[in-house]
Amino acid sequence: MPRYEPAFGMDVPRFAGIATFMKLPHVRPEEAEGVEIGILGVPFDLGTTNRPGARFGPRALREAASMLRRLNQATGVDPFALAACADLGDAPVNPADLQDSLRRIEAFLDGVVGRGIVPLVAGGDHLTSLPVLRALARRHGPLGMVHFDAHTDFYDAYFGGFRYTHGTPFRRAAEEGLIDPRRVVQIGIRVTLYDGEDVRFARSAGVRIVPIEELVDRGFAAVMAEARAVVGTGPVYASFDIDAIDPSQAPGTGTPEVGGIDVHSAQRMIRLLDGLDLVGADLVEVSPSYDMGGLTAWTGANLMFELLCVLARAAARRRADQASS
Ligand code: MN
Ligand code: MN
Repeated sequence: MPRYEPAFGMDVPRFAGIATFMKLPHVRPEEAEGVEIGILGVPFDLGTTNRPGARFGPRALREAASMLRRLNQATGVDPFALAACADLGDAPVNPADLQDSLRRIEAFLDGVVGRGIVPLVAGGDHLTSLPVLRALARRHGPLGMVHFDAHTDFYDAYFGGFRYTHGTPFRRAAEEGLIDPRRVVQIGIRVTLYDGEDVRFARSAGVRIVPIEELVDRGFAAVMAEARAVVGTGPVYASFDIDAIDPSQAPGTGTPEVGGIDVHSAQRMIRLLDGLDLVGADLVEVSPSYDMGGLTAWTGANLMFELLCVLARAAARRRADQASS
């Protein structure tokens, strides 16, 4: 079986070679024999309602992620020792057709999830999460979710009844039974609203919304303890919209909102997902055209690494459970 490991930065300088996610080997899903976690891009931004460009996110994130080393100094986790990881390339999209793109992305993710591979997805705008959740729910049933964002993405429709945008993915996911709203926590929600219908709907469906003010007042450890209790022991998805981060640290995104989460707190909160039954994750809404010096992509790549660490821990735990049962 091939060994799916990143190229070692003391053999090959990190700036050299083809920029795959975390310098991993690139294989197509149908060739990914033995791969347990697949990192993949979704170069899709047809759901964007404001400034476009998240379709260029995967390339910028690969470039930044090739600079990462393999060991998480804070937690001691080496994700590549815990699970076989590979770069699965990009999901196919049709830049002239939103619904056709969603179908193609879902079919690609079906091929990933159907092989038992845990997806770590680099968006793309946040509508990317919908076809990923469709594929994951087909395998695992309705999912819990820990969602970091400035926005709920629980709106019903935009521009006179159009129901598929990056402001609506979780409304659709709830309607389709892909997520269980009573096992969903949204962290970092803030600032101006169109009319607040999204927040009212989400709360009435049972979603736990933690506005940024509450996060700052209570602290990230207390909020994450509650988040873990809300999502419980069932399968969980983690979705990280880069606009959860304050725009001073992540300006390269389509819908920036001031007063956000600092990068250090975000790293600490993702580490506190450890122990949950994580079955997939995404990092979305990096839009390189609005970035400054690659700052947002670098932040996004580092947060993807933190997500990979907790995904690898969950994958290793499931493998051990299977071996002992
Ligand atoms: Mn979002
Ligand atoms: Mn957002």
